[in-house]
Amino acid sequence: MAWRILSLALGQLLAAAIGWRFALHGDAPLGAALAALLAGYVWLIFDTLRGARLLRWLRAGAQSEVVLGSGLWGESHDRIRRLVRDGERRATQSDARLHDFLAALQASPNGVILLDEQGRIEWFNQTASAHFGLDVRRDTLQHLGNLVRDPGFAAYFAGRDYQSDLTMFGRQNSSFKPVRLSVHLHPYGEGRSLLLSRDITALEQAEAMRRDFVANVSHEIRTPLTVLAGFVETLQSLPLSEDERQRYLGLMAQQSQRMQTLVSDLLTLSRLEGSPPPPTQEWVSVSQLMAQCEQDAHDLSQVLWQQPHRLTLNIEGDCDIAGAGTELYSALFNLVGNAVRYTPVQQNIAVTWKSLPDGDAVFAVEDTGPGIAPEHLPRLTERFYRVDRSRSRETGGTGLGLAIVKHVAQRHGADLRIESVPGKGSRFSIRFPHARLRAAQLTFRSGSAQL
Ligand code: ADP
Repeated sequence: MAWRILSLALGQLLAAAIGWRFALHGDAPLGAALAALLAGYVWLIFDTLRGARLLRWLRAGAQSEVVLGSGLWGESHDRIRRLVRDGERRATQSDARLHDFLAALQASPNGVILLDEQGRIEWFNQTASAHFGLDVRRDTLQHLGNLVRDPGFAAYFAGRDYQSDLTMFGRQNSSFKPVRLSVHLHPYGEGRSLLLSRDITALEQAEAMRRDFVANVSHEIRTPLTVLAGFVETLQSLPLSEDERQRYLGLMAQQSQRMQTLVSDLLTLSRLEGSPPPPTQEWVSVSQLMAQCEQDAHDLSQVLWQQPHRLTLNIEGDCDIAGAGTELYSALFNLVGNAVRYTPVQQNIAVTWKSLPDGDAVFAVEDTGPGIAPEHLPRLTERFYRVDRSRSRETGGTGLGLAIVKHVAQRHGADLRIESVPGKGSRFSIRFPHARLRAAQLTFRSGSAQL
């Protein structure tokens, strides 16, 4: 600023000196005054022109380059340019932050909708779009209440009581594939709100399964318990002959055995669900497993049918399986045991192990028993699902056998496959992946195998 005044004063002094020296008619003071005045005007015009250039530059958005040198206008230009650049940088940074923030909301597994004061949609993520069937172009700035027509939602949205959440059907809900949503509205800022939606279909299904499971277990235990209680009462209250007493005690033993088997299968299932994956370094001999199955199948035939089945055993390409011996035995014997229990004694049961060219191997149990109607096949591995309820109970079944087989197979990376033709027979097979197999190295010991 000082330089600015100094330059004006110096310019005027210089002009005055020149005016003094070259004054017309020898009037030196007048010449000096006029020259100083003229110099002042010239300085003012140049200065105003520089100020006007700065103003033009500002009006054009301060984007282009303009050279104003140093001094008041030059420094003003530099400082304004710096301020504009800082502002632009800050705007870019906050744009990037907003972009990141929206990208994070976009990645959320939950639906997010931002609503303005009137309940109009400002923004929503893809999950919300799937939950409510929204379209960015069509529905942005539309009133959410007009787009989501579920009556429960309409009442919740209009009710203005957002303490709890609302459970409703999702847009993609159908009788084949139910979709249940939990929706919660959170007011924020001045009259705005945030709507969060969560897909709780799997959670509700798991809860329903848990309820069914508890109901099934209670039912399965209550039946033998009622029978037992009845026999106890009879023994206590009626004078019975020794033969009758023995018969009742035998029936009571049967019922308690049934409960024991049920509890043991339940424990097996819960162990399978809770325990770490089976080892990959421990090997179990297939021939040993199959010999044990054969022996136990023979005993089961004797108990149930009082004579052995026609059971054949065939191993093509003996192997060892990496995994848990007790689990594997339980899975294989459940299949062999089912064949024994459901196949009449005159019919055939074939148990085979076959190594395949790709390195996998298949364990299969084939029977010529009653077979299973196709509508039952997809549900056989559900807990407590039985086709022939009375046959299952009579032969000590719990309805958990195939659920255990499926679990064990999954834990060993194997697949359970069920094929059956009513009236002709069934084939249950487990295909083990080559990663869990090696050529037999464990020596087969006959007799009761230690698994
Ligand atoms: P369960 O203890 O009742 O045998 P599973 O889970 O082992 O339970 O089997 C489920 C149902 O599948 C059985 O109740 C039975 O009706 C049917 N099933 C299983 N194996 C056979 C088979 N080899 N032949 C005919 N039906 C079978």
